[in-house]
Amino acid sequence: KDFSSKQVRKTFTDFFHELYQHRIVKSSPVRPRGDTSLLFVNAGMNQFKPIFLGAADPRSEMVTYRRVVNSQKCVRAGGKHNDLEDVGRDVYHHTFFEMLGNWSFGDYFKEEACGMAWRLLTEEYRIPPERLYVSYFAGDAISGLPADEETRHIWLSIGVPADHLLPFGMRDNFWEMGETGPCGPCTEIHYDHIGGRNAALLVNADSPDVVEIWNLVFMQYNREADHSLRSLPHFSVDTGMGLERLVSVLQGQRSNYDTDLFTPLLSAIQQCANCPKYRGRTGEADVGKVDMAYRVVADHVRTLSVCIADGVYPGMSGAELVLRRILRRAVRFSSEVLQAPEGSLAGLVPTVAHILGDTYPELHKETDRIMDVINENEAQFLSSLKQGRRVIDRTLQRLEGSNSVFPAPVAWSLHRNLGFPLDLIGLMLEEKGMCIDQQSIDELASANEKLKRQTQSSGRETLFHLDLHTLAQLQADKVPQTDDFLKYHYS
Ligand code: ATP
Ligand code: MG
Ligand code: MG
Ligand code: MG
Repeated sequence: KDFSSKQVRKTFTDFFHELYQHRIVKSSPVRPRGDTSLLFVNAGMNQFKPIFLGAADPRSEMVTYRRVVNSQKCVRAGGKHNDLEDVGRDVYHHTFFEMLGNWSFGDYFKEEACGMAWRLLTEEYRIPPERLYVSYFAGDAISGLPADEETRHIWLSIGVPADHLLPFGMRDNFWEMGETGPCGPCTEIHYDHIGGRNAALLVNADSPDVVEIWNLVFMQYNREADHSLRSLPHFSVDTGMGLERLVSVLQGQRSNYDTDLFTPLLSAIQQCANCPKYRGRTGEADVGKVDMAYRVVADHVRTLSVCIADGVYPGMSGAELVLRRILRRAVRFSSEVLQAPEGSLAGLVPTVAHILGDTYPELHKETDRIMDVINENEAQFLSSLKQGRRVIDRTLQRLEGSNSVFPAPVAWSLHRNLGFPLDLIGLMLEEKGMCIDQQSIDELASANEKLKRQTQSSGRETLFHLDLHTLAQLQADKVPQTDDFLKYHYS
């Protein structure tokens, strides 16, 4: 059977379209349309939010949809769903990924949804049922939500053995789109990569051995701004399955990076890297080393390509700021860890377009523009990077191993004066066995936040800097002077 990623994607949409009359809908762009509650599209359901809420424009064709299927471009690097910190450390979280989904808008509900999913996985994709574990909502006393016994019984009647059925609480089995928006109890299907006897214990335990693949959400509520739950006008089904994870299962790989969605990228990186080959097949943690760098670069260049093609450029606020952070991380790993020459990152874009361009043609159309944007931004950051590396090295020399906590003012100034994302500084220090003084950084950040709120009302994430010296001046009611900490201490 053909389990290439292209075929796996197509089998999904064909299955729901041909056997269950779902309408095939295109992925929306990753920039949310008319929804300020999100930085990026983080799930397939985002573009259907008005339908769930019963608020779709009656003139739009969408209101006639009852059953829909698609594969959606998703980015989870900011807001409620933010996986940036996990990317590269593990082998199954990406900043950009494709979510395969099927929907019922007030049409079929739990029983049909579970039946379709089980049939697709075990009959079409031929996954051995004994490798699958299913979680369902255990209820929540605080919110007054009951356990989803109905779903448990549905799975039992489908033939899932009781010891493969596991209850979980709000965190894992009550899905919410964001701080507000449609939500509901969910049931999730997990795959046991090793066939282990203790697999049930590894469900929802951040283990690479048992990985969540498909989430079936039963949309019943809207989370309101005051945090209360309002019942929706009709019950709907919203499912999402990570294509990369599914493909790794079907191609018999334990890492998403060892599937045809990533291996051409890893080889392309290898060609320009001036360092050892990628060896991270098992996905064991090797923070800061070569394997993680390969994964981060491969992941980030996909995200950069998709976002730029959709008109999100690296910039100074909101989604743009997140993309800038992603770009700077990619540049850092590519140039410092993999020792790849300038221009290598942009050189990977044609490979991304080759892998994903048939499904998302904008990647072919925008290849040149994506490369230009990446190159421009890379050149800008590389000079700061050199300077920043010098500052870090010199600070470490001064500390002479006497302390494993890096001085917060220096970290903050790297962030403030050289535009280093804080998480990147953390990673660079981690490689040296150091850590960032998180508490002092948080203090600076919150003082910064406060000042930001006073000076502007937009409320979006904005790059805004406040160093210790300026803070002291502000607290002393003085007019802040521009302080160049780095120049002062390091020139
Ligand atoms: P996890 O618990 O692994 O972080 P999740 O519960 O946050 O996943 P959902 O919001 O339920 O994920 O999204 C539905 C599906 O999308 C998941 O079952 C998974 O297959 C996939 N998915 C979610 N986040 C990512 C990601 N960062 N990278 C790749 N696939 C993802
Ligand atoms: Mg998650
Ligand atoms: Mg989960
Ligand atoms: Mg989930």
